[in-house]
Amino acid sequence: MIKKLPELLEKAPTSELSSIKGICFDIDDTFSSEGKILASTFNSLWRLKEAGFLLIPVTGRPAGWCDHIVRFWPVDAVVGENGAFVFYMDGGKRERFDILSAEELSSAQKSLKQLAKKIKSKFSDVMWASDQAYREFDLAIDFCEDVKPWPVAKIEQLVELCRSEQAIAKVSSIHVNTWYGIYDKQTTFDKWINDIGESYLGHAFDKNEWIYIGDSPNDEPAFEYFPKSVGVENLKDFYNQLETFPTWICNYPSGKGFEQLVDLLIKARSA
Ligand SMILES: [Mg+2]
Repeated sequence: MIKKLPELLEKAPTSELSSIKGICFDIDDTFSSEGKILASTFNSLWRLKEAGFLLIPVTGRPAGWCDHIVRFWPVDAVVGENGAFVFYMDGGKRERFDILSAEELSSAQKSLKQLAKKIKSKFSDVMWASDQAYREFDLAIDFCEDVKPWPVAKIEQLVELCRSEQAIAKVSSIHVNTWYGIYDKQTTFDKWINDIGESYLGHAFDKNEWIYIGDSPNDEPAFEYFPKSVGVENLKDFYNQLETFPTWICNYPSGKGFEQLVDLLIKARSA
């Protein structure tokens, strides 16, 4: 199968970008740069907000973080834990849209406990991610955030083990996230936008008017879903693991790549 590599973002036609009204974006190593959010990157989010764009981060990060993000950042909603839920603010109150019912969650958590035991028995040095305590739906295994980076083969063995236990497993730039439930970042965004998002945002959803930006294999469903998508430059590290590529690739990594997209979107709108 021949894979279509992305074009350089700087070559994206203005006519393709000028119709964009909403941006969905990954956080780790897309919006953040080596573990920090740069002042210029955070400021670029405010520039988008002030220019009237709709903004929805889509992340593998936990519910505890997403509660903070939706309340304090200039965003319209946040998809968290790889699509387990969407948090959004309505009349100053934080609302949530969960994919699993309470019964499904309770059964998923039992299965996840069993899986955790199996992971521990096979990988004796395994460390849960330091944000595990703030998660509601998934188990995050750290392979390079606060631990010595794992070799790729070991990450693949872990993913294999999770999948052999009928769990979903996705690889971000720092964690393997595993869960029980049929959802991912893209399917949840799609459900929320159709059930609630359109009336909440006051915006008839057209995926041609949205763009997605990400950095790693767990962004692949979104690269497939959105007709217009972007990879930050560090996505190149994962090219050999991707089946679907974004439309464009930034000249710069992480936050600086995000800022490149912001500059082009704002320029295209005022052109
Ligand atoms: Mg990421």
